[in-house]
Amino acid sequence: MSPRRALHGSSLTISVNNGRCHLYGVCQYEAPSLFELTEDERLRYVTEVIPEYADQAKAAAMCCPMRAIQLSGEQL
Ligand code: SF4
Repeated sequence: MSPRRALHGSSLTISVNNGRCHLYGVCQYEAPSLFELTEDERLRYVTEVIPEYADQAKAAAMCCPMRAIQLSGEQL
């Protein structure tokens, strides 16, 4: 699934600090529905997460070796 903005029921927001992100791809492994490393070495990600993917988002944030993923919102 390619990363895209969620449509409804979102209350968890993802932001990635590009200055910290080293494109290791751990987030993509933990949450392939939310993060994608592109062939031109960019990180694409869903910014607003529907509740069904909140656990994936949290796992990705916890596993990011650079602590580059920040979550905010009511689902924390
Ligand atoms: S796991 Fe962290 S450092 Fe690696 S690509 Fe994802 S956000 Fe960037």
